Amino acid sequence: MIEKHYKQIKEYAKNIDLCVVSKKRSIQEIQSYYDIGERIFGENRADEFLIKTKQLPTDISWQFIGHLQRNKVKEILPYVSCIQSLDNIPLARVIEKEAAKISKKINVLVELHMAMEDTNKSGLNPDEVDDFINTIMQECPHIQIQGIMAMGPHTDSTERIHEVFQQVNQIYQRLQNKFGTQMFHTLSMGMSHDYQIAIEHGSTMLRIGTYLFEETEL
Ligand SMILES: *Cc1c(COP(=O)(O)O)cnc(C)c1O
Repeated sequence: MIEKHYKQIKEYAKNIDLCVVSKKRSIQEIQSYYDIGERIFGENRADEFLIKTKQLPTDISWQFIGHLQRNKVKEILPYVSCIQSLDNIPLARVIEKEAAKISKKINVLVELHMAMEDTNKSGLNPDEVDDFINTIMQECPHIQIQGIMAMGPHTDSTERIHEVFQQVNQIYQRLQNKFGTQMFHTLSMGMSHDYQIAIEHGSTMLRIGTYLFEETEL
């Protein structure tokens, strides 16, 4: 662990959840954050997720934060606390089917695609999100929506990052008013390079990897 960086993040994120993004990190590196009290960890690949969840303590709240292939759903469901990257109905249908088989309610965040300049295609466009939520509510009783996940744009422009996170927060608040805080209580945004900006715009959960595991300053 990088104590200096960790303390700095915790200082900023006083009432905010921290998801320690542990992709590509060793069991020992992850354990070092577990040992100082962190319990929320995030992985973005199913194979790695499965190996790590089986080796690390069972009270970890595992977040799936990457593109999830439908053929991996069945395997990861028993171990996952929240799928943060739900962005399409075919995936939701598979989650629903497999969750029903094991009688487990699966927490999800709806992933938004905000930064139109980025080629990364994951996430729903803002104008698709209401229909998407209605469909999940009608067709997927084993899926429990908890909120929104979004990524900031890949840019050096602090202004642009502010703009995008502000837009995400507006959508989040609108959905909260429309669907209730039972379904919208988590706003997952903010990574190593933009977490401070995300906090200014209402993030309730940071997802940080690099800065927690590497000495390099931002
Ligand atoms: C890797 C990753 C992060 C963490 O990014 P860092 O820049 O390493 O802090 C957060 N969210 C998602 C979806 C990721 O894939």
